[in-house]
Amino acid sequence: MLEITGLVKVYPGPVAALQGIDLDVPPGMFGLLGPNGAGKSTLMRVLAGLLEPTSGRVTLDGIDVLDKPDWLRERLGYLPQDFGFYAHLSGRDMLLHLLRLKGVQAPGGLNGLADELLERVNLTFAAKRPVKSYSGGMRQRLGIAQAIAGDPRLLIVDEPTAGLDPEERLRFYHLLAQLAEQRLVLLSTHIVEDVAVLCPRFAVIRGGRLLARTTPRAAREAVAGLIFEGVVSPGELPELRATRQVTQELLVEGRHLVRLYEPSGAAPMGFQAVTPTLEDAYLVLMRAGALPGLETSAAAEVRP
Ligand code: ADP
Repeated sequence: MLEITGLVKVYPGPVAALQGIDLDVPPGMFGLLGPNGAGKSTLMRVLAGLLEPTSGRVTLDGIDVLDKPDWLRERLGYLPQDFGFYAHLSGRDMLLHLLRLKGVQAPGGLNGLADELLERVNLTFAAKRPVKSYSGGMRQRLGIAQAIAGDPRLLIVDEPTAGLDPEERLRFYHLLAQLAEQRLVLLSTHIVEDVAVLCPRFAVIRGGRLLARTTPRAAREAVAGLIFEGVVSPGELPELRATRQVTQELLVEGRHLVRLYEPSGAAPMGFQAVTPTLEDAYLVLMRAGALPGLETSAAAEVRP
């Protein structure tokens, strides 16, 4: 269990990037969802021991990790948002370099470990190719290979699916899901689908504060019966945007499909109730700052 209490980070400026985060993260996959600038990377970097918080406490299995960076390092794998590679090196040499930098020890030697890790992330076929020839997904898999060296208890991955094409993303989802079977994986993302696909539990962060800690099902149920969909003409859009809580505007086969949130539950003329998606729930949360049906559980988790 990872326990975060009263975490505050103020950058010079001052920029209050984290304004008092309280969060318990159980083993398995946990999502941290939020828009750009929400404070996700700051939180990930603090948890990875790379950035000193202004105040607050973080424990892993009861041990204060801010006090014991070396203890944490032995139990942590981290894939940062901007993972630097030496493009001219082969994937295998790059991985070996990273393993040495990390100070990883392997009973059978680092070469054997590198081969094993490449196999785990499905990169054996490209081990000898220069990293510059790798696709985005292959680079991320190489990043995961270094992160899981030493079999860390806690794996932190910061926006790992941004920029991957759909097929690469799917492959990466499978890899992450597998890794979360034996450890705690904290996945930061601004992509709602990442959470819908991977995370039995997640938290939403905005402006350095947690807005909710919930499950995809509870989030969807919170807006059940309150999401409506209708086809409108382009001319109707400005008024709808001004008078209704529009959550999504989609173009489907050239028609303007609008999804909106109506807290009264009364269908607007020409609209009909639809089953909410996690995207709907997230967009309502972003607009309103809270999910109505989650008041009791979410309010207990959200600290002012
Ligand atoms: P996210 O990862 O959710 O996009 P970040 O943690 O990167 O959010 O940023 C949170 C806030 O902190 C933003 O307002 C950002 O501009 C600011 N910020 C991030 N890094 C620094 C820094 N090194 N110095 C000053 N402000 C920063």
